[in-house]
Amino acid sequence: ATVGENMLRGDRGVRVEASVSNGGFFSRSMKMAKSELPLLLLSFVLLAMSSASRLLLPHYQGNIIDKVIPDPDTGAYDKAGFLHFIKIYVWIMVAQGAISTIYSAIFTLVSRRLKFVLRNKLLEKILVQDVAYFDGTESGRLISRLTNDLNLMMAPIQSSLSSLLSNILILIGGLIMCFWKSYRLSMLAFVTVGPISYLWEQYAQWSKGLAREMMSHWAEGNSIASQALIHVRTVKAFGCEHQVLHNYSQTNKEALNCGIKDAWGNGLTSALTGYLDLGSGILILYYGGILVYNGELTVGELVTFQLFWNMMNNAYQNLQGLITSFTRSAAGAEKVFSLWDSDPDIDPQKGRDIVRENVQGGLQLENVSFHYQMRPDNKVLSNFSLSIPAGKTVALVGRSGGGKSTIINLLLRFYDPKGGKITLDGQDYETLKVQQLRRLFGVVTQETELFALSVEENIAYGLDKDEYTHEDVVEAAKKAYAHEFISEMKDGYKTRIGERGNRLSGGQRQRLAIARVFLRRPKIILLDEATSALDEHSQEAVHKALSNLIAESQATVVLVAHRLSTVVNADAICVVDQGSVLEQGNHDELVAKGGIYASMVAKQVKKKSDLLEQE
Ligand code: ADP
Repeated sequence: ATVGENMLRGDRGVRVEASVSNGGFFSRSMKMAKSELPLLLLSFVLLAMSSASRLLLPHYQGNIIDKVIPDPDTGAYDKAGFLHFIKIYVWIMVAQGAISTIYSAIFTLVSRRLKFVLRNKLLEKILVQDVAYFDGTESGRLISRLTNDLNLMMAPIQSSLSSLLSNILILIGGLIMCFWKSYRLSMLAFVTVGPISYLWEQYAQWSKGLAREMMSHWAEGNSIASQALIHVRTVKAFGCEHQVLHNYSQTNKEALNCGIKDAWGNGLTSALTGYLDLGSGILILYYGGILVYNGELTVGELVTFQLFWNMMNNAYQNLQGLITSFTRSAAGAEKVFSLWDSDPDIDPQKGRDIVRENVQGGLQLENVSFHYQMRPDNKVLSNFSLSIPAGKTVALVGRSGGGKSTIINLLLRFYDPKGGKITLDGQDYETLKVQQLRRLFGVVTQETELFALSVEENIAYGLDKDEYTHEDVVEAAKKAYAHEFISEMKDGYKTRIGERGNRLSGGQRQRLAIARVFLRRPKIILLDEATSALDEHSQEAVHKALSNLIAESQATVVLVAHRLSTVVNADAICVVDQGSVLEQGNHDELVAKGGIYASMVAKQVKKKSDLLEQE
């Protein structure tokens, strides 16, 4: 298997994402919003002011009505008082409008900034995961974390955090005002509140479950789509677009079914609570009317009470809806936080800095044992030891499946050994900063992964703009025998390569990978030679490019080789099988020894093909 394949290997079982401690949702969100707290605080104050001013309105409405009702004895009405209250009413309204504009703008601003931070942080969190994590998690699901789950989590915060808070304030204020105006009416109206809240509570729970289910269907759909798009040529070659579409629409349909259920549930709950609400309205009018008739309440006071009650009731219902959407968002947050909480085993922050200039490039595997997390019973390496001296070229040969690519994976510290250790210039890998370690390497795998960027950007991938010039890129390409075909392209080095480099042949892609290594001037070069059938011409070009690379660089080279011609000049050749070194020495020594390597060579010479193989 190639390193590239191993990296791409899909979902082969369960990956343990750390489970989230439930309930910490709000406290964790608050922690994340720490930098925004001053602005949030300001908007809370404005929000409180705006809610308070809204609470004053019904009171003045009642006053206005009482002023227009003529005095039963004199028949006169208080025109000055009437105008006075109208004036106050207008001022409050204007102030309230202005304040609420400001705070809602602040809330939107804050939530957008939070989302920006979260998106960045989340991709960082994904990228920091071990390669083993990606062995077990499909990329589509991870894209879902960045899109669907994050959106679901942020949706209510963006649109309704402010309304949540203002509704809470209005609810409390309205309640106080209602009791202040008439405690008897308040008590009566309250009869209906219990059933309403029970209904909403039930709905919220149910809806949260549905949201979770819907998310998982969406993630599945994303995964199907992204797999199909990554491998679109295979999909087309097999003519199975309809199957992809069918599977995709199946998952979407299941998500839709959840959505439909939720819509019905929401409708029904709203209808029932609506009726209960109307009931309370009638009760208030009926009993309030009697109170007015008996002279215990003025008409203005009844109107005020009614307005307060409606206001409070509205706030209460809004809150129920908001709480539902917040609970749903908790379903998205659970996923986001679970990713947040899963820390990689290989901590990128840990370890000493590497001083590049001092690196010699000697590598050593000491009694290394290893198996992949997905297949613990398949012991790939056991007590494997190998010394790769600085500046030398070591070739690994042997049967496919013997563990050669795994050694390359371990040298790149994609995985840590389960036993034994790997050292660079005598220093244990685990004591070094992993990213700096990896930056010492230049890698050419069988599957060259190219990005949807220009040829030049692909060659310079991973380097900062100030680390190379266009001339450097051209020089690297020339050494890699890639300059010619690049120059023939429409826009030369500026030509954009399609995603996965589809517009290039296998040999051309590989030469680009070799150019990358030339440009990077790595301390250590890892080569996984392609066995795939390249045509004669490009085989020769790739071969010349590789020989150039090995000959010219001072680097340590580890080479997984399949061809005799590549191996002959290596300083040491290791025959690897079933996770251990069977033979070691240079070409002449091993041929003289007459062992496995010698028989591989003999067989190859007989076949006259250039491929080293052993049954
Ligand atoms: P080689 O490069 O010599 O062909 P590999 O190192 O690719 O051999 O494979 C060694 C063994 O490890 C094989 O049995 C292979 O199936 C297994 N293997 C390789 N990569 C993975 C992986 N990502 N997850 C599980 N098993 C793997």
